[in-house]
Amino acid sequence: MGAMGAMSSSDVHQDLSATIGDAVFSAGKTKHVYKLVIMNELMVAKKFFNCGNGIGEVSAAENESFLVSEITRLKSIAWILDEFKDTASVKGVDISQDITVTEAWIFRESNITASKASGLFANGSSGSAVWLVEPRRTKAVDNAFSHYVYIASKKTFVLADVQGSIVNIQGIDTIVLFDMMMHTTEQDSGVGDCGKPGINTFTEQHICTYMCGSLGFELMNQVDDE
Ligand SMILES: [Zn+2]
Repeated sequence: MGAMGAMSSSDVHQDLSATIGDAVFSAGKTKHVYKLVIMNELMVAKKFFNCGNGIGEVSAAENESFLVSEITRLKSIAWILDEFKDTASVKGVDISQDITVTEAWIFRESNITASKASGLFANGSSGSAVWLVEPRRTKAVDNAFSHYVYIASKKTFVLADVQGSIVNIQGIDTIVLFDMMMHTTEQDSGVGDCGKPGINTFTEQHICTYMCGSLGFELMNQVDDE
């Protein structure tokens, strides 16, 4: 990881020192995600690489504008969700308290030299690099469960990209896992099976939680190992 030095967070106007990865950690259709460590906490930093004009054709200003829209949506929905929870509480309706909207902050790089990760803006665009920073989302139970699957299979398969949704089953809110895909050493489990490279991705990216340790698992990666 390359040191980024100071970044400032918009809502608290606070200078923080952060370290951002040089390489893309994951990518969606429009955004690249980088690992970011702030005060030993693993976070993710997001930046647009495509906002409709083609890949890599995003200026620093467009990136900032799209990220501000995104954080505005997150904060709006978070506010409505809080109201919803309060309403349910007042009315005595038992809703799932597991639903939550991620915390998020806009960060602006303040070093004279921009991070390597930020250097992927469209050529010729000026302006400082802005990032949407969120805690790295992990469901601790899934996380330890994923690790357990790897151990239980004697390292021959892992769960791939486990999705979960909360469903009320006989009055109890339950996280139901779906889209069950696997990576196997023989690459013979069907759709989504990337074989050994998929297993390697899991072992490189799985972050052990306190649960992995408490369950006696051989620890793979911990946040402060970066
Ligand atoms: Zn683990």
